Amino acid sequence: MPLMRIPYTSPLPLPKVIPPYATTPSTAITALCNFLSPSHSSSGKTVLLTGAGISVASGLADYRGTNGTYTLNKTYRPIYYHEFVKDHEARKRYWARSFLGWTNLERARRNGGHVAVGELGRLGVVGGVITQNVDSFHPETHPSLPTLELHGYLRSLVCLSCRNEYPRNTFQSSLSMLNPSWATFLEEMLATGALTTEDPMERRSKGLRTNPDGDVDVPNANYTTFRYPACPVCMAKPPVLGNGEVGRIEVDSDGGWLPGSTAGVLKPAVIMFGESIPNIVKEKAENMIDEASRILVIGSSLATYSAWRLVKRAKERGMGIGILNIGGARGEDTFYSDMREDNDGTDAVRISERSDLILPEVVKVLEEVEGFKGHKTAPISHNSSS
Ligand SMILES: [Zn+2]
Repeated sequence: MPLMRIPYTSPLPLPKVIPPYATTPSTAITALCNFLSPSHSSSGKTVLLTGAGISVASGLADYRGTNGTYTLNKTYRPIYYHEFVKDHEARKRYWARSFLGWTNLERARRNGGHVAVGELGRLGVVGGVITQNVDSFHPETHPSLPTLELHGYLRSLVCLSCRNEYPRNTFQSSLSMLNPSWATFLEEMLATGALTTEDPMERRSKGLRTNPDGDVDVPNANYTTFRYPACPVCMAKPPVLGNGEVGRIEVDSDGGWLPGSTAGVLKPAVIMFGESIPNIVKEKAENMIDEASRILVIGSSLATYSAWRLVKRAKERGMGIGILNIGGARGEDTFYSDMREDNDGTDAVRISERSDLILPEVVKVLEEVEGFKGHKTAPISHNSSS
């Protein structure tokens, strides 16, 4: 059965901190160190499962507030895969908003949480990262620690017909060329600081609303004239479609895709809501769980089923479960139902603190532990190159 990405919008319970006294940064750090320490011995490494919460300190929006609702923008409804695939108008709207939102994502930089994850890999504690995030911070920050991008990545586009991929940043230039009035509007927004501020409230006061996945709401905007380019490979060599017919690609004088076409539509290389996660990705994620001895969830409320079921799998395999997330996580009670009274974090841990502040401190403590020192190598550079 294919695994589909579906949003979960029900409220979540409040987190129940484990061990119960780990409600301050210092006690939380100790509990997390207790949880991660066994991974250094022969019992096997920890696999991380990260979500939007780890990128909040990078200036990117989270889907949920601490009480688990769409607090950022209550009217936000993400585009669904089937709408994108079949509806030219939906694509215009998507790309117009993405055109404005991309500048924010491009400017965003990894934070101390991502760097600390790389350090945990170097210390031999963490063996791999499964991320729900599409911002590419994990593979960019720690290329030698394997990352599986469960929901794809915004850095590329994929052609729905020929499956070729293209970089998103050059696509941005094409959108700019095809939509000069939008490009002017974007310049104005950048000049007023509406897009440069990392404060969502300030942004909203300037007439914009930002959403996860690098999407910006512009009240009363007219999307109908927005244009987007066709796949250049399909234009040069029309593909044979599933029904055996040769695809037809029609473009306007500037190269904008026209609705008479039957192929050559470019889509962001993310798994949209309502889209199935490729089986190979699903299987890789399951293998990463099965190879690990414990799992630590960072910055995810496990609201999407694809993420929740991985933790459920870990639980069924008897693995230690850790969650570091501000606010509740879907069904977390079931993950902590059978704990020892004297658990100090070694068996299971549940922390509600900021990962960008806590994780670097965890790394510092573990580096001092005898046995970890041998793994200490040059720290990862904090400067981002892209
Ligand atoms: Zn193509």
